[in-house]
Amino acid sequence: MNKNGKVTEIHSRIRKEPFTANYELLGKELGRGKFAVVKKCTEKATGKQYAAKFLRKRRKGEDCRMDIMNEIAVLESAKANPYVVALHEVYETTSEIILVLECAAGGEIFNQCVADNDEAFTEKDVIRLAKQILTGVAFLHRNNVVHLDLKPQNILLTSARPLGDIRIVDFGLSRRMDNVREVREILGTPEYVAPEVLSYEPISTATDMWSIGVLTYVMLTGESPFLGDEKQQTFLNISQVNVDYSQDTFEGISSLAVDFIKSLLVKNPRKRATAEDCLRHPWLNSHQHLHMRPASSLDEPEMSQSESEPESPALSPDLD
Ligand code: ADP
Ligand code: MG
Repeated sequence: MNKNGKVTEIHSRIRKEPFTANYELLGKELGRGKFAVVKKCTEKATGKQYAAKFLRKRRKGEDCRMDIMNEIAVLESAKANPYVVALHEVYETTSEIILVLECAAGGEIFNQCVADNDEAFTEKDVIRLAKQILTGVAFLHRNNVVHLDLKPQNILLTSARPLGDIRIVDFGLSRRMDNVREVREILGTPEYVAPEVLSYEPISTATDMWSIGVLTYVMLTGESPFLGDEKQQTFLNISQVNVDYSQDTFEGISSLAVDFIKSLLVKNPRKRATAEDCLRHPWLNSHQHLHMRPASSLDEPEMSQSESEPESPALSPDLD
Protein backbone atom coordinates (compact mmCIF):
# COMPACT_ATOMS: atom_id res chain seq x y z
CA MET A 1 0.00 0.00 0.00
CA ASN A 2 1.36 3.46 -0.79
CA LYS A 3 0.98 6.62 1.25
CA ASN A 4 -2.22 7.67 -0.47
CA GLY A 5 -3.96 4.59 0.81
CA LYS A 6 -3.94 2.97 -2.61
CA VAL A 7 -3.46 -0.78 -2.52
CA THR A 8 -1.57 -2.10 -5.48
CA GLU A 9 -0.92 -5.76 -4.64
CA ILE A 10 -3.51 -7.90 -6.37
CA HIS A 11 -4.28 -11.62 -6.42
CA SER A 12 -6.18 -11.96 -9.69
CA ARG A 13 -4.29 -13.40 -12.62
CA ILE A 14 -3.89 -10.73 -15.27
CA ARG A 15 -4.63 -12.39 -18.59
CA LYS A 16 -2.67 -11.24 -21.60
CA GLU A 17 -4.51 -13.21 -24.28
CA PRO A 18 -7.03 -11.21 -26.31
CA PHE A 19 -10.24 -10.58 -24.38
CA THR A 20 -12.21 -11.50 -27.51
CA ALA A 21 -10.68 -14.98 -27.48
CA ASN A 22 -12.87 -15.75 -24.45
CA TYR A 23 -15.72 -13.26 -24.68
CA GLU A 24 -18.15 -12.06 -27.28
CA LEU A 25 -19.02 -8.39 -27.03
CA LEU A 26 -22.72 -7.77 -27.32
CA GLY A 27 -22.15 -4.26 -28.60
CA LYS A 28 -24.57 -2.91 -26.07
CA GLU A 29 -22.93 -0.20 -23.99
CA LEU A 30 -24.02 -0.45 -20.36
CA GLY A 31 -22.58 2.86 -19.34
CA ARG A 32 -19.57 5.08 -19.32
CA GLY A 33 -17.67 7.36 -17.02
CA LYS A 34 -14.71 9.69 -17.42
CA PHE A 35 -12.10 7.08 -18.33
CA ALA A 36 -14.07 3.88 -18.75
CA VAL A 37 -16.56 2.29 -21.08
CA VAL A 38 -18.63 -0.64 -19.84
CA LYS A 39 -20.05 -3.15 -22.32
CA LYS A 40 -22.14 -6.27 -22.01
CA CYS A 41 -20.42 -9.49 -23.08
CA THR A 42 -20.89 -13.26 -23.07
CA GLU A 43 -18.25 -15.69 -21.84
CA LYS A 44 -17.83 -18.17 -24.69
CA ALA A 45 -17.06 -21.16 -22.46
CA THR A 46 -20.14 -20.78 -20.26
CA GLY A 47 -22.59 -18.58 -22.17
CA LYS A 48 -22.85 -16.40 -19.06
CA GLN A 49 -23.27 -12.64 -19.36
CA TYR A 50 -20.85 -10.17 -17.80
CA ALA A 51 -20.09 -6.46 -17.84
CA ALA A 52 -16.63 -5.63 -19.22
CA LYS A 53 -15.16 -2.36 -17.93
CA PHE A 54 -12.50 -1.06 -20.32
CA LEU A 55 -10.08 1.24 -18.49
CA ARG A 56 -7.45 3.29 -20.32
CA LYS A 57 -4.04 2.99 -18.70
CA ARG A 58 -2.97 6.48 -19.78
CA ARG A 59 -5.17 9.40 -18.86
CA LYS A 60 -4.22 12.99 -19.65
CA GLY A 61 -0.72 11.75 -20.47
CA GLU A 62 -0.28 10.07 -17.07
CA ASP A 63 0.24 6.39 -16.33
CA CYS A 64 -2.74 5.27 -14.24
CA ARG A 65 -2.00 1.56 -14.03
CA MET A 66 -1.52 1.78 -10.25
CA ASP A 67 -4.94 3.39 -9.81
CA ILE A 68 -6.48 0.50 -11.72
CA MET A 69 -4.56 -2.02 -9.58
CA ASN A 70 -6.03 -0.26 -6.53
CA GLU A 71 -9.54 -0.64 -7.97
CA ILE A 72 -8.91 -4.36 -8.56
CA ALA A 73 -7.43 -4.86 -5.07
CA VAL A 74 -10.47 -3.27 -3.43
CA LEU A 75 -12.86 -5.43 -5.47
CA GLU A 76 -10.87 -8.49 -4.40
CA SER A 77 -11.04 -7.49 -0.74
CA ALA A 78 -14.83 -7.20 -0.91
CA LYS A 79 -15.37 -10.51 -2.66
CA ALA A 80 -17.24 -11.99 0.31
CA ASN A 81 -19.94 -9.32 0.26
CA PRO A 82 -22.87 -9.89 -2.11
CA TYR A 83 -23.67 -6.16 -2.42
CA VAL A 84 -20.29 -5.29 -3.91
CA VAL A 85 -20.10 -6.18 -7.61
CA ALA A 86 -18.16 -9.41 -8.17
CA LEU A 87 -14.93 -9.37 -10.19
CA HIS A 88 -14.68 -12.39 -12.48
CA GLU A 89 -11.46 -11.88 -14.50
CA VAL A 90 -8.91 -9.25 -15.54
CA TYR A 91 -7.34 -8.74 -19.00
CA GLU A 92 -4.55 -6.39 -20.04
CA THR A 93 -3.61 -5.04 -23.46
CA THR A 94 -0.96 -2.46 -24.32
CA SER A 95 -3.40 0.41 -23.79
CA GLU A 96 -6.16 -0.94 -21.57
CA ILE A 97 -7.09 -3.05 -18.57
CA ILE A 98 -10.41 -4.85 -18.81
CA LEU A 99 -12.32 -5.80 -15.68
CA VAL A 100 -14.83 -8.58 -16.28
CA LEU A 101 -17.55 -7.88 -13.72
CA GLU A 102 -20.78 -9.49 -12.69
CA CYS A 103 -23.46 -7.85 -14.87
CA ALA A 104 -25.98 -5.74 -12.95
CA ALA A 105 -28.70 -5.84 -15.58
CA GLY A 106 -31.11 -3.45 -13.83
CA GLY A 107 -28.89 -0.43 -14.43
CA GLU A 108 -28.24 2.59 -12.23
CA ILE A 109 -30.63 3.48 -9.39
CA PHE A 110 -30.21 6.96 -10.85
CA ASN A 111 -32.89 6.13 -13.42
CA GLN A 112 -35.55 5.46 -10.77
CA CYS A 113 -34.41 8.44 -8.70
CA VAL A 114 -35.36 10.82 -11.50
CA ALA A 115 -38.34 8.79 -12.77
CA ASP A 116 -41.99 9.85 -12.74
CA ASN A 117 -44.20 8.76 -9.86
CA ASP A 118 -45.30 5.39 -11.24
CA GLU A 119 -41.70 4.26 -11.77
CA ALA A 120 -40.13 6.00 -8.78
CA PHE A 121 -39.13 4.11 -5.63
CA THR A 122 -41.63 3.80 -2.82
CA GLU A 123 -40.43 4.35 0.75
CA LYS A 124 -40.65 0.59 1.25
CA ASP A 125 -38.30 0.06 -1.73
CA VAL A 126 -35.87 2.65 -0.40
CA ILE A 127 -35.81 0.97 3.02
CA ARG A 128 -34.89 -2.37 1.46
CA LEU A 129 -32.28 -0.88 -0.88
CA ALA A 130 -30.79 1.37 1.82
CA LYS A 131 -30.31 -1.67 4.07
CA GLN A 132 -28.42 -3.40 1.27
CA ILE A 133 -26.27 -0.36 0.50
CA LEU A 134 -25.47 -0.01 4.21
CA THR A 135 -24.67 -3.71 4.57
CA GLY A 136 -22.19 -3.39 1.68
CA VAL A 137 -20.71 -0.15 2.96
CA ALA A 138 -20.47 -1.47 6.56
CA PHE A 139 -18.47 -4.40 5.16
CA LEU A 140 -16.11 -2.03 3.31
CA HIS A 141 -15.70 0.17 6.39
CA ARG A 142 -15.00 -2.82 8.66
CA ASN A 143 -12.19 -3.60 6.23
CA ASN A 144 -10.99 0.00 6.37
CA VAL A 145 -12.00 0.74 2.81
CA VAL A 146 -13.75 4.00 1.91
CA HIS A 147 -15.54 4.21 -1.43
CA LEU A 148 -15.49 8.03 -1.81
CA ASP A 149 -17.78 8.11 -4.85
CA LEU A 150 -21.15 6.83 -3.64
CA LYS A 151 -23.85 8.31 -5.88
CA PRO A 152 -26.85 6.98 -7.84
CA GLN A 153 -24.71 6.30 -10.93
CA ASN A 154 -22.49 3.93 -8.95
CA ILE A 155 -25.28 1.95 -7.28
CA LEU A 156 -26.71 -0.58 -9.71
CA LEU A 157 -29.59 -3.05 -9.61
CA THR A 158 -29.56 -6.73 -10.50
CA SER A 159 -32.94 -6.11 -12.15
CA ALA A 160 -35.18 -3.06 -12.50
CA ARG A 161 -38.63 -4.72 -12.78
CA PRO A 162 -39.27 -6.47 -10.56
CA LEU A 163 -36.96 -4.40 -8.42
CA GLY A 164 -33.89 -6.54 -7.65
CA ASP A 165 -30.95 -6.11 -5.31
CA ILE A 166 -28.23 -3.50 -5.29
CA ARG A 167 -24.60 -3.82 -6.39
CA ILE A 168 -22.05 -1.19 -5.46
CA VAL A 169 -19.67 -0.45 -8.36
CA ASP A 170 -16.86 1.93 -9.31
CA PHE A 171 -14.02 1.66 -6.82
CA GLY A 172 -11.90 4.02 -8.90
CA LEU A 173 -11.60 6.55 -6.07
CA SER A 174 -11.63 4.18 -3.10
CA ARG A 175 -8.84 4.06 -0.56
CA ARG A 176 -7.68 2.05 2.42
CA MET A 177 -7.98 4.16 5.54
CA ASP A 178 -5.20 2.66 7.70
CA ASN A 179 -2.64 4.97 6.29
CA VAL A 180 -4.38 7.86 4.62
CA ARG A 181 -2.98 11.14 5.85
CA GLU A 182 -4.68 13.59 3.61
CA VAL A 183 -6.40 13.73 0.32
CA ARG A 184 -5.72 17.11 -1.18
CA GLU A 185 -7.86 16.94 -4.25
CA ILE A 186 -11.58 17.39 -4.49
CA LEU A 187 -12.74 13.88 -5.14
CA GLY A 188 -16.10 12.69 -6.28
CA THR A 189 -19.11 14.46 -7.67
CA PRO A 190 -19.83 17.91 -6.20
CA GLU A 191 -23.45 17.18 -5.24
CA TYR A 192 -22.45 14.16 -3.15
CA VAL A 193 -19.20 15.25 -1.51
CA ALA A 194 -19.01 15.86 2.22
CA PRO A 195 -18.10 19.24 3.76
CA GLU A 196 -14.72 17.93 5.01
CA VAL A 197 -13.74 17.13 1.41
CA LEU A 198 -14.51 20.71 0.37
CA SER A 199 -12.51 22.15 3.25
CA TYR A 200 -9.57 19.75 2.71
CA GLU A 201 -9.95 18.19 6.12
CA PRO A 202 -9.17 14.49 6.67
CA ILE A 203 -11.45 12.03 4.98
CA SER A 204 -12.73 8.96 6.79
CA THR A 205 -15.46 6.37 6.61
CA ALA A 206 -17.80 9.22 7.70
CA THR A 207 -17.21 10.81 4.30
CA ASP A 208 -19.10 7.91 2.67
CA MET A 209 -21.88 8.27 5.23
CA TRP A 210 -22.57 11.84 4.13
CA SER A 211 -22.97 10.58 0.55
CA ILE A 212 -25.40 7.92 1.78
CA GLY A 213 -27.42 10.71 3.39
CA VAL A 214 -27.56 12.56 0.06
CA LEU A 215 -28.33 9.32 -1.77
CA THR A 216 -31.22 8.47 0.55
CA TYR A 217 -32.61 12.00 0.20
CA VAL A 218 -32.54 11.70 -3.60
CA MET A 219 -34.08 8.20 -3.61
CA LEU A 220 -36.99 9.35 -1.45
CA THR A 221 -37.70 12.79 -2.88
CA GLY A 222 -36.24 12.74 -6.40
CA GLU A 223 -34.48 15.98 -5.50
CA SER A 224 -30.78 16.61 -4.96
CA PRO A 225 -30.55 18.37 -1.58
CA PHE A 226 -27.52 20.57 -2.20
CA LEU A 227 -27.61 21.11 -5.96
CA GLY A 228 -27.42 24.79 -6.83
CA ASP A 229 -27.55 26.57 -10.16
CA GLU A 230 -23.78 26.89 -10.10
CA LYS A 231 -21.04 24.71 -8.62
CA GLN A 232 -20.15 27.47 -6.13
CA GLN A 233 -23.73 27.55 -4.84
CA THR A 234 -23.69 23.75 -4.44
CA PHE A 235 -20.46 23.99 -2.42
CA LEU A 236 -21.93 26.77 -0.25
CA ASN A 237 -25.11 24.73 0.35
CA ILE A 238 -22.98 21.76 1.44
CA SER A 239 -20.68 23.69 3.76
CA GLN A 240 -23.69 25.40 5.38
CA VAL A 241 -25.67 22.14 5.44
CA ASN A 242 -28.48 24.05 3.79
CA VAL A 243 -31.11 21.29 3.47
CA ASP A 244 -34.85 21.51 2.83
CA TYR A 245 -36.71 19.15 5.18
CA SER A 246 -40.09 20.78 4.54
CA GLN A 247 -43.40 18.89 4.61
CA ASP A 248 -43.78 19.78 0.96
CA THR A 249 -40.61 18.00 -0.10
CA PHE A 250 -41.25 15.02 2.18
CA GLU A 251 -44.95 14.65 1.46
CA GLY A 252 -46.08 11.10 2.21
CA ILE A 253 -42.67 10.13 3.62
CA SER A 254 -42.33 9.02 7.25
CA SER A 255 -40.73 11.24 9.85
CA LEU A 256 -38.38 8.34 10.68
CA ALA A 257 -36.95 8.66 7.15
CA VAL A 258 -36.30 12.36 7.69
CA ASP A 259 -34.73 11.55 11.05
CA PHE A 260 -32.46 8.99 9.36
CA ILE A 261 -31.26 11.52 6.75
CA LYS A 262 -30.70 14.14 9.47
CA SER A 263 -28.38 11.71 11.27
CA LEU A 264 -26.16 11.62 8.17
CA LEU A 265 -26.20 15.20 6.86
CA VAL A 266 -24.27 16.43 9.89
CA LYS A 267 -21.32 18.71 9.24
CA ASN A 268 -19.00 17.30 11.91
CA PRO A 269 -17.89 13.88 10.58
CA ARG A 270 -17.43 12.55 14.13
CA LYS A 271 -21.05 13.26 14.97
CA ARG A 272 -22.38 11.63 11.82
CA ALA A 273 -24.04 8.20 12.11
CA THR A 274 -21.86 5.24 11.10
CA ALA A 275 -23.03 2.43 8.79
CA GLU A 276 -23.62 0.25 11.86
CA ASP A 277 -25.61 3.04 13.57
CA CYS A 278 -27.73 3.36 10.43
CA LEU A 279 -28.45 -0.37 10.25
CA ARG A 280 -29.86 -0.09 13.79
CA HIS A 281 -31.90 3.03 13.04
CA PRO A 282 -35.64 2.58 13.67
CA TRP A 283 -36.48 3.66 10.10
CA LEU A 284 -34.83 0.55 8.64
CA ASN A 285 -36.65 -1.62 11.15
CA SER A 286 -39.94 0.19 10.88
CA HIS A 287 -42.02 -1.80 8.41
CA GLN A 288 -44.48 -2.87 11.08
CA HIS A 289 -45.02 0.75 12.19
CA LEU A 290 -45.51 1.86 8.63
CA HIS A 291 -47.71 -1.13 7.76
CA MET A 292 -45.63 -1.69 4.68
CA ARG A 293 -44.88 -5.37 4.61
CA PRO A 294 -44.81 -8.32 6.96
CA ALA A 295 -41.56 -8.82 8.84
CA SER A 296 -39.71 -11.40 6.84
CA SER A 297 -38.03 -14.31 8.55
CA LEU A 298 -34.76 -13.17 6.95
CA ASP A 299 -34.77 -9.88 8.80
CA GLU A 300 -32.54 -9.44 11.76
CA PRO A 301 -34.31 -9.32 15.10
CA GLU A 302 -35.25 -5.83 16.18
CA MET A 303 -33.01 -4.03 18.58
CA SER A 304 -34.56 -2.55 21.68
CA GLN A 305 -34.80 1.22 21.66
CA SER A 306 -32.04 1.64 24.24
CA GLU A 307 -29.70 -0.61 22.35
CA SER A 308 -30.36 0.92 18.97
CA GLU A 309 -30.20 4.60 19.78
CA PRO A 310 -27.67 5.40 22.46
CA GLU A 311 -27.48 9.20 22.22
CA SER A 312 -27.58 8.81 18.49
CA PRO A 313 -27.25 11.95 16.40
CA ALA A 314 -30.34 10.61 14.66
CA LEU A 315 -32.47 12.09 17.40
CA SER A 316 -30.49 15.25 17.94
CA PRO A 317 -28.72 16.28 14.77
CA ASP A 318 -25.77 18.46 15.53
CA LEU A 319 -25.29 20.85 12.70
CA ASP A 320 -22.27 22.77 13.87
P1 ADP B 1 -16.37 5.17 -14.04
O1 ADP B 1 -15.24 4.92 -13.10
O2 ADP B 1 -15.85 5.62 -15.39
O3 ADP B 1 -17.45 6.04 -13.50
P2 ADP B 1 -18.10 2.89 -13.55
O4 ADP B 1 -17.49 1.69 -12.94
O5 ADP B 1 -18.91 3.77 -12.67
O6 ADP B 1 -16.99 3.73 -14.32
O7 ADP B 1 -19.00 2.44 -14.78
C1 ADP B 1 -19.65 3.41 -15.59
C2 ADP B 1 -21.11 3.03 -15.76
O8 ADP B 1 -21.19 1.73 -16.41
C3 ADP B 1 -21.89 2.85 -14.45
O9 ADP B 1 -22.39 4.07 -13.98
C4 ADP B 1 -22.98 1.89 -14.89
O10 ADP B 1 -24.01 2.56 -15.57
C5 ADP B 1 -22.27 0.98 -15.89
N1 ADP B 1 -21.74 -0.23 -15.22
C6 ADP B 1 -20.58 -0.33 -14.51
N2 ADP B 1 -20.40 -1.57 -14.00
C7 ADP B 1 -21.48 -2.30 -14.39
C8 ADP B 1 -21.90 -3.65 -14.14
N3 ADP B 1 -21.15 -4.49 -13.43
N4 ADP B 1 -23.07 -4.06 -14.68
C9 ADP B 1 -23.82 -3.20 -15.41
N5 ADP B 1 -23.49 -1.91 -15.66
C10 ADP B 1 -22.33 -1.45 -15.17
MG1 MG C 1 -18.88 5.71 -12.00
